[in-house]
Amino acid sequence: KMLTPYTTGERKLLQESVHQFMKAECPREYVRECDEHKRYPIELIQKTAALGWWSLTLPPEYGGYGDYLDMIVFLEAIAYYSIALARVWNITVSMVGGTIQRFGTPAQKAEILPRVARGEITLAFALSEPDAGSDAAAVKTTAILQDDHFVVNGSKMWITNALHAHYLLTVVRTDPRAERHQGMSLLLIPRESEGVEIQPLNLLGGHALRTCAVYFDEVRVPAHLLVGELHHGWINLLPTLTKERAALAAMCTGAAQAVVDDALRYAKQRVQFGRPIGKFQAIQHKLADMQTRVDASRLLAYQAGYLLAQGQAADREASAAKVFAADTYVQTAIEGLQILGGYGYSMESDMQRHFRESKLFQIFGGTNEIQRLVVARQLGL
Ligand SMILES: Cc1cc2nc3c(=O)[nH]c(=O)nc-3n(C[C@H](O)[C@H](O)[C@H](O)COP(=O)(O)OP(=O)(O)OC[C@H]3O[C@@H](n4cnc5c(N)ncnc54)[C@H](O)[C@@H]3O)c2cc1C
Repeated sequence: KMLTPYTTGERKLLQESVHQFMKAECPREYVRECDEHKRYPIELIQKTAALGWWSLTLPPEYGGYGDYLDMIVFLEAIAYYSIALARVWNITVSMVGGTIQRFGTPAQKAEILPRVARGEITLAFALSEPDAGSDAAAVKTTAILQDDHFVVNGSKMWITNALHAHYLLTVVRTDPRAERHQGMSLLLIPRESEGVEIQPLNLLGGHALRTCAVYFDEVRVPAHLLVGELHHGWINLLPTLTKERAALAAMCTGAAQAVVDDALRYAKQRVQFGRPIGKFQAIQHKLADMQTRVDASRLLAYQAGYLLAQGQAADREASAAKVFAADTYVQTAIEGLQILGGYGYSMESDMQRHFRESKLFQIFGGTNEIQRLVVARQLGL
């Protein structure tokens, strides 16, 4: 259906071509294999880059096109098939690519953005630390400027795609004596730098991308890899975090819609007591509630994307969309699994993967508790 004014014209075409491509090129078996064998979806990255999708939201001089609402519609459609692809795209193109686009030097843009657009490199975003989670300003990793390079020491935790990323956009403390929210900077650290150690973590989901602990021991990083002004990292980071929340809402919407569609199909086919289980009112109510919540998530995500595309403040809307869509994905996965009964609990079904993957969305990108605090603050509390 056409969701005017959000999905019209070229945006609708983009949405349709994503569905068409992903349906053909990203079958369930592939997603399952990447999950089971912790396999990086490199083929999908390269094929989607060849279609020009890795320059979406990048500047036109790097072949870029489209706005943040296009991004929301794109990520929703991608996540319907592959959460891993949506996540690595979001980190690489939107979070890190977007930060470079906004604050990077001409040399950084020329070096990195065309390679991102061609799907040659992916990136990672390294903010969290063992003692800096929700309290992100508690970052302790230091980067001390010495002549023409920084010396980085410390560790980062939960860094998605660190194993494959060419650069880690790392939040570092460049003035250890400054106030908590000051004295931080953004530094592109090449993954291959001497003194960088990366350890993949064993997690419940997200196996295709891997999330890692990263250690920096006397890592020398050329000063020209500083992104944005020295000590201005925190303030420069904030628009990226808002955009991330809207993006995560879009992914949850797409993935939750896939859950509803699978559960609906099963409810129509599975016969018990002589009729399809979808004829039982208890199952009908579940599916009606699931679809309604997904529709509401979609509208919240589109609203946030629309405001961002207009250059308007969207802190409340992005956080609200993230909370609601993440809760929706979790709830639909729980109910979807219930509708599939024993089969849903089997590793043979995709529902167990949604059950595992969905939980993450209530935790990362700022937990749902923190997002509710953002909404409350915007309400003047
Ligand atoms: C799989 C995965 C991938 C990730 N990828 C990345 C990444 O690529 N880059 C990156 O930088 N980070 C990443 N993260 C980190 C993620 O953003 C953090 O896990 C998240 O911000 C929460 O921090 P924490 O885990 O330290 O939990 P904590 O901050 O310790 O929170 C623990 C609990 O306390 C609650 N809590 C904390 N403070 C408050 C408060 N003020 N009010 C109410 N409740 C509160 C939280 O909501 C939570 O329920 C990832 C995490 C995971 C699990």
